[in-house]
Amino acid sequence: MPRPIAALVHADALAANLAVARRAAGGAKVWAVVKANAYGHGIGNVYAGLKGADGFALLDPAEAELLRELGWRGPILLLEGCFDPRDLDTCSRLDLWHTVHHEAQIDWLAAHKTKEPHKVFLKLNSGMNRLGFAPAAYRAAWLRLDALPQVAGITLMTHLANADAADPADLEASLAAFAGATAELPGPRSICNSAATLRLGARLAASPDDWVRPGILLYGSSPDHPLHRAADWGLAPTMSLRAELIAVQTLAAGASVGYGSAYTAAHEMRIGVVACGYADGYPRIAPGGNERGTPVLVDGVRTRTVGRVSMDMITVDLTPVPEARVGSVATLWGRADNGAVLSIDEVAGAAGTVGYELMCARAPRVPVRVVAG
Ligand SMILES: *Cc1c(COP(=O)(O)O)cnc(C)c1O
Repeated sequence: MPRPIAALVHADALAANLAVARRAAGGAKVWAVVKANAYGHGIGNVYAGLKGADGFALLDPAEAELLRELGWRGPILLLEGCFDPRDLDTCSRLDLWHTVHHEAQIDWLAAHKTKEPHKVFLKLNSGMNRLGFAPAAYRAAWLRLDALPQVAGITLMTHLANADAADPADLEASLAAFAGATAELPGPRSICNSAATLRLGARLAASPDDWVRPGILLYGSSPDHPLHRAADWGLAPTMSLRAELIAVQTLAAGASVGYGSAYTAAHEMRIGVVACGYADGYPRIAPGGNERGTPVLVDGVRTRTVGRVSMDMITVDLTPVPEARVGSVATLWGRADNGAVLSIDEVAGAAGTVGYELMCARAPRVPVRVVAG
């Protein structure tokens, strides 16, 4: 039998989370952000669950091509725009919308030959200082684009650096920068990532032509964890990483487990060896020492890791699950068969990272199975 590990992708949960985004968006259109191979889920695996979106947003022209092959005929947006002038040919061929965030991209468009003019998203740098035109340069960029026969419509766009912050001051400063730079300009607007959609969607997406751009919320992770948990936002996990116990050990009092003997049993205890390690995408840094472990479900019962994460295995305390045996299912994150949920955010929090990184880190050797429920 193949190694007993799999990532389940829950199609119904994707659709339910998309509905949460739609409700929060206050009537605006919704891009389902599926960059990074749908946050590690696989674009082909999320397509059925997310095809109720108004469009798909991603970075890689090859992923856009895959969506067309899957049968998607609606809008697709390249969030980083074109990387070189030849990408414009791909945009014309596949009917892709694209972000324009620097001057050379306008030069390329001006030199591009296309039958159908392109829809573009003109990006303002509202304080993130990665991509986008400075507020003082924004209007000139808009005027240049507006004069091009290659352009059919300009959406005013920014990406917020602090939409998930507890203190709204920086977020409000970015919104003020956007309002200032776009004040005189017509056209739809696109401001909100997941955090802004959930917190401010109704305020920021004012017209039915505006677009929100949720990513992480679609995958059942809270964009502002630990301020809010996924359940607080009504989000359900879309990826369950599950592996079986491939061995059970009894530690005598004083015995240790794993590399570096990082956990020592205070008294006799049973531990399970799970067929999942850092080579599967489980974070090696997840704690398993005596003072603190990382949560895990075994047969749907909550317990913790003991000892270091190794390449192919982790070890877990079976004290709360005395009936566990070889073949019992460990849920590293997501939903267990009994309905118990371990949010990926909790595991990420224990490991000092975010749900985004854990999803994206699912290793290619972990097969994905799409399930309905
Ligand atoms: C990734 C991304 C998003 C989605 O962000 P989430 O925090 O996952 O919702 C939205 N807009 C842009 C430009 C992005 O790059």
